[in-house]
Amino acid sequence: MQQSKRESDVRTTESDAGAESLDFIRQIVTDDVARGAKVATRFPPEPNGYLHIGHAKSIVLNFGIAEEFGGTCNLRFDDTNPTTEEVEYVDSIKEDVRWLGYDWGEREYFASDYFDKLHELAVQMIRDGKAYVCELSKEEAAEFKGDYYRPGRESPYRARSVEENLALFERMRRGELDEGAAVLRAKIDMQAPNMNLRDPPMVRVIKRPHHRTGDTWCIYPTYDWTHGQSDAFEGITHSLCTLEFEDHRPLYDWFLDQLALPARPRQIEFARLNVSYTVLSKRRLITLVREGHVDGWDDPRMPTLCGLRRRGYPPEAIRKFCERVGIAKSEGVVDVALLEHAVREHLNETAPRVMAVLDPLKVVITNYPEGEEEEFEAPYHPQDPSYGSRKVPFSRELYIERDDFREVAPRKWHRLSPGAEVRLRYACLIRCVDVIKGDDGEIKELHCTWDPESRGGKSPDGRRVRGTSHWVSANHAVPATVRLYDRLFNTPNPTAGGADLTASLNPDSLEVRQGMMEPSLRSAAPGSRWQFERLGYFTVDSANSRPDKPVFNRTVTLRDSWARIERRNS
Ligand code: ATP
Ligand code: MG
Repeated sequence: MQQSKRESDVRTTESDAGAESLDFIRQIVTDDVARGAKVATRFPPEPNGYLHIGHAKSIVLNFGIAEEFGGTCNLRFDDTNPTTEEVEYVDSIKEDVRWLGYDWGEREYFASDYFDKLHELAVQMIRDGKAYVCELSKEEAAEFKGDYYRPGRESPYRARSVEENLALFERMRRGELDEGAAVLRAKIDMQAPNMNLRDPPMVRVIKRPHHRTGDTWCIYPTYDWTHGQSDAFEGITHSLCTLEFEDHRPLYDWFLDQLALPARPRQIEFARLNVSYTVLSKRRLITLVREGHVDGWDDPRMPTLCGLRRRGYPPEAIRKFCERVGIAKSEGVVDVALLEHAVREHLNETAPRVMAVLDPLKVVITNYPEGEEEEFEAPYHPQDPSYGSRKVPFSRELYIERDDFREVAPRKWHRLSPGAEVRLRYACLIRCVDVIKGDDGEIKELHCTWDPESRGGKSPDGRRVRGTSHWVSANHAVPATVRLYDRLFNTPNPTAGGADLTASLNPDSLEVRQGMMEPSLRSAAPGSRWQFERLGYFTVDSANSRPDKPVFNRTVTLRDSWARIERRNS
């Protein structure tokens, strides 16, 4: 079916240089603009779930093209199905598109606003002999439809007179016919090789209120009968959609050919985004939420935009990722490491560095006077002075990371061990003189001495101290809950071969720690992003964090597997 097989969706950042090589959609738009055409696109979500990173690709494409070509982009809710749609989803979609950084201004539309017009057009189609009311049962209709190998058969109701069709359609509208008892179908061609052209349903009875039209209707247009016309009503020039609609294009074009509408949108299909170690389908995401595998749509492990936002993914990074992935005609799977790479890249440039200890081990500086304290100046970014700095308090009792100490130091161990000396970041040099254990043999605390001459962390006599540890002052530290998130699935393609999604859930996708932070983080705003030195990037949880009880979500680790892949390939 596909005209041009393009390279797979998996790209390296080389396509960043994409300025000179336009993707195939931008090429088409460029040509149309050269011929004097205007550009009007739309992002058309169905409000039956929360947006995910796949939708971001479509948003970035549609709003991006409008921006680049001086056109407009509408936000249109394709709300034709009252059984699955809710206001909650409409609100969340708007919030997410705005958060990604796009503004649709006044151009907010709903397919449900076109129900009247679509109804008139349906009546028109009946009058023109191009649509009929069919009373085959669902099973019969499926049987009559044939399949890929077998042509369909015409419904016995196909030859009804216009008058009879009009009367029956009116009875459908008035609610006199039951759900499934009658359907308005287009009269096209039951022999057509493209199954979508075998007299597809246009309007069906659904006796349910709609979130916007209430009880006005008990018949609703199908998506197929709605989408192309909605585009036409809005004067959309380039109707960009994913590949599964390629086979629907002849039907949309057929509808448009029958109707005299002011505009003729051109549909262009592109490959949907798939990302490894995750699922991008509202149906599957709903299952994860309903079965309680995650803590709601905005669980920071979810690929939903609200989940990624709560996790701390910056919208700029998501946009960059979508641009890098680019637009292709054939489906591929993008390595999730590429997304994480974009997040790290952005945070590396924007997140202030601070100190937090996630698995605290107490250190007592035995030669530091009790009751005293002092402060050290610590820059928020080691290379970039424009970030400024803050003062971190230092006192006799500190916490370091338990993992930064070994009672028996392995070879090449540069961090703390009995008798060894390390640098405390921005503070001083300390030497471990004693290991204090509890009755259970667990290390309770370390006794160390410091070198007062090493204030600021410098070696006073040039002696070599290789290891540096982060730390916080015990008396000043702010206890915080830190949620260490990892990938939700532990297989690259969790739905391979129709596999049960839950079988590949990563049991270690969330680990909760009680950490200790430097006091400057006491006032960290919800949603603010930080690098905890040596540990990763963390974001203040927007749902549960409180000043007296901070909660941090790990956004990404510092380890960049994508950069490693890139280095290997270069
Ligand atoms: P899902 O399969 O997750 O339920 P959908 O396609 O049914 O998604 P819609 O609300 O109909 O969701 O999608 C709105 C727009 O976003 C459509 O134009 C659709 O093609 C596009 N879109 C959805 N998923 C992706 C994806 N993974 N990659 C790119 N575009 C997508
Ligand atoms: Mg859809």
